[in-house]
Amino acid sequence: MTELVHGVEVSRELRERARNPPIRSGAGCLAAELARVPEPFAVLTQPEVWRSVPEAARSRAAHVAFVHSLDRDALDATERALPRVAAVVGIGGGMVVDNAKWVAWRRAIPYFPVPSSVSVDAFVSNTIAAREASRVVYLGFVVPEVVIVDPTLIATAPARFNRAGVGDLLSIHTALWDWERGAAHGGAAFLPAIAARSARILDRTDELASAIGRTEPEGLIHIAEAFAEVNSLIIDAGHSQPEEGSEHYLAYALEEETGKSFVHGEVVGLGVVVMATLQGNRPERARSILARCQVDWQPRNLGITRAAFVRALSALPSFAVRTRAPWSVANQAPIPADVVEELLGGPLADLEFAPPRAHPA
Ligand SMILES: [Zn+2]
Repeated sequence: MTELVHGVEVSRELRERARNPPIRSGAGCLAAELARVPEPFAVLTQPEVWRSVPEAARSRAAHVAFVHSLDRDALDATERALPRVAAVVGIGGGMVVDNAKWVAWRRAIPYFPVPSSVSVDAFVSNTIAAREASRVVYLGFVVPEVVIVDPTLIATAPARFNRAGVGDLLSIHTALWDWERGAAHGGAAFLPAIAARSARILDRTDELASAIGRTEPEGLIHIAEAFAEVNSLIIDAGHSQPEEGSEHYLAYALEEETGKSFVHGEVVGLGVVVMATLQGNRPERARSILARCQVDWQPRNLGITRAAFVRALSALPSFAVRTRAPWSVANQAPIPADVVEELLGGPLADLEFAPPRAHPA
């Protein structure tokens, strides 16, 4: 039996493996884990990441290629330039592992992701986010043979990016509220067993928040494992509402309003604080987790002015309708500018904004 995921036929066996990819983790585990990868193998990476990989691990690679783009043509060029290999290892961030997925997909060889930071979940997700004529398209369906999580390597990435990984876990807090109430407004059925698994991931994140803030191995490994669990929940639910709701819609609306791209977990963190406040859903818990994780979610840090924030939040109900987002607190009632001003004078009075840009002379 097969089903379509992003237009790709996926067998039940492949889907089952995607739900539960093996993860091997431990400080300094990379060299020992690479010794178990079928040889000869190619490594895709970036120069600054490769410099952080110890010699004992580097020497195992039969071929090393540096990748720099997710354009469809660049993916094809990467694949064509590689010699015949038995496996492909991607050591890096989202762009690197998506290149490695592409090679694995085209050649039907095993794929081993090695995240060099835990800022995004590309190392556990199954589709390839490629760019075609400046628009993102999702291709393929690739399951890691083994995910290799070495916190010694991950800790060489800037702490700001690793901490921001928590944004896509904290989003569970507001997403579950939206999903549950959305079901009563004609949205996707609320699945309590899946929601409970999702809530447990959030509880564990809460417990480990200080370790995440200090980028300790336990905290970094938790984020990696939690991303894999969230991926499995999304496969089981058939949509991303166990993890994605109005906090993401506000993040996207802020991107559209400002024309900027933000550190994803930071702007999602801002979204969780704001939307939990609108939901009346324990915003103090979201604030406390972000504080202990040392994520700077303040609009000032993201370069968002007060005026841009007011515009994006008051336009959020129409943004959600226009982008066909599932029902969320943004659909519950209009959020006119005077309501936003009331929030900024009350429960959101501690928001700090970027100064308005001076008018050009
Ligand atoms: Zn996200």
